[in-house]
Amino acid sequence: MTKQRTLSIIKPDATSRNLVGKILSHFEEAGLTIVAARMMTLTPEQAGQFYIIHKDRPFYGELIDYMVSGRALVSVLEGDDAVNLNRKLMGATDPKKADAGTIRNLYAESIAANAVHGSDSAENAATEIKFFFPELA
Ligand code: GDP
Ligand code: MG
Repeated sequence: MTKQRTLSIIKPDATSRNLVGKILSHFEEAGLTIVAARMMTLTPEQAGQFYIIHKDRPFYGELIDYMVSGRALVSVLEGDDAVNLNRKLMGATDPKKADAGTIRNLYAESIAANAVHGSDSAENAATEIKFFFPELA
């Protein structure tokens, strides 16, 4: 398996509860290396563009408001099968459905405030990494 990169975001509900260290530990203990990271408060323009794929979903406005509501730790994780591995570590979107021991099972508050984002395909990972870290492309 060749090394792959994926984009992770620790979302405002998790940064505000000081869960950054605990969540990063999940990545590192699973063998993913943090190769870039930036703590930032997204602008509405950045959040809106990042989640443009969801623009027709009923929760789009709520999602953008939430993503700009506090600091987010945006990072690039690298390792074998990074995209799928990160999605496994995260657990299901709805924390009620997330497997025991996953990040969302342990730390998410709700389907909206669900602690983490992770790219869902290698193609989207490349787009999302370029969006936040153009210098890595
Ligand atoms: P993900 O890939 O597991 O993050 O899930 P999606 O791509 O389907 O959704 C993107 C993000 O939108 C989720 O992580 C949630 O923060 C938010 N979201 C998803 N479904 C809902 C919903 O039904 N209501 C609200 N308010 N937010 C949602
Ligand atoms: Mg998604």
